[in-house]
Amino acid sequence: MSLRFGVVGTGAIGREHIDRITNKLSGGKVVAVTDVNQDSALQTVEQYNLDAVIYPDDVALIADNNVDVVVVTSWGPAHEATVLAAVEAGKYVFCEKPLATTADGCMRIVEAEMKQGKKLVQVGFMRRYDSGYVQLKEAIDQGEIGQPLMVRAVHRNPEVGENYVTEMAVVDTLIHEIDALHWLVNDDYKSVQVVFPRKTKYAHDKVQDPQLFMIETNSGIVMNVEVFVNCKYGYDIQCEVIGEDGVAYLPEFPSVVTRKNGKLSSGILQDWKYRFMDAYDVEIQDFIDSIGKKGEPQGPTSWDGYIAAVTADACVKAQKTGEKEAIRLQEKPVFYSKDTVCETV
Ligand code: NAP
Repeated sequence: MSLRFGVVGTGAIGREHIDRITNKLSGGKVVAVTDVNQDSALQTVEQYNLDAVIYPDDVALIADNNVDVVVVTSWGPAHEATVLAAVEAGKYVFCEKPLATTADGCMRIVEAEMKQGKKLVQVGFMRRYDSGYVQLKEAIDQGEIGQPLMVRAVHRNPEVGENYVTEMAVVDTLIHEIDALHWLVNDDYKSVQVVFPRKTKYAHDKVQDPQLFMIETNSGIVMNVEVFVNCKYGYDIQCEVIGEDGVAYLPEFPSVVTRKNGKLSSGILQDWKYRFMDAYDVEIQDFIDSIGKKGEPQGPTSWDGYIAAVTADACVKAQKTGEKEAIRLQEKPVFYSKDTVCETV
């Protein structure tokens, strides 16, 4: 039986998810949509030729008995209320990041979910479904490089607009590394310090660029993560894990290599969307399949959303103080203690 999806927020990523559920993946069907901009909801239904009800708001959509799953792709500050209402109604939720804009908000969702007695929520941290990250994690988990000691990660974008301010390097950019890196090494974060190197001439007044985050884990792994959002040359994600017995690298995104005019060269992606396009497909397919087979999503949980929020708060504080700031998580509830697995890649 197909899972019946209701989508809250028909902007860019909302439409992309509707497209993949409708045209690429199996086992799901979009039966309801809503957006504060009702024209956008209507256009989406027409664009994808959906047999779907357009609701005035998320409350009405969640109340529809035909909706099994609520996809939350509205803007960040609206996520918490929608996720809470959906969880309280016992519906499954796929929520794009952030789960909530505050750690307290994430904790309210964690508590509501535990009250329901089963995992209902998956957070859209799609890097865990990228085949390169999956291979890197396998290498680490199988002990190929021994105990991880250090991580060096890079997140570069060609450029950002005038609306991008220093804090967004954490909440919009680093947030993906925040989720992926603790998952990669199976450890929790302990502290973070931020250093601002010499600023690039391409950055506008309101953003420090580049930025270096030094994050330490409970077991003492030190992670150096560079965020450089006006690097000019392309979208570039790198990750290197240095262990006691060897080093493991995130595979480069495949690109044809040419030998021509005395040069060996290959292309670099210009847009982040293409880098993780396959990962989004695998992520939502896994969400559908896991609910079908196990009755619960298996991907990033509400607790992972909470970890991301607490860590992001500490990173933003560290940007402001220049000091080493503690990352203090509450004790992980047993409810979330079973580690999530991505089985489909
Ligand atoms: P977007 O294009 O601005 O779309 C958001 C849509 O939601 C807009 O149509 C907005 O309407 C609507 N909206 C806002 N508040 C709403 C509410 N309370 N109820 C219903 N609809 C509401 O943004 P986007 O790029 O699609 O991003 C959406 C979310 O996905 C963000 O949280 C973003 O961080 C996340 N995201 C994640 C990834 C990823 O890599 N995992 C990638 C992209 C985006 P108005 O335009 O009229 O405000």
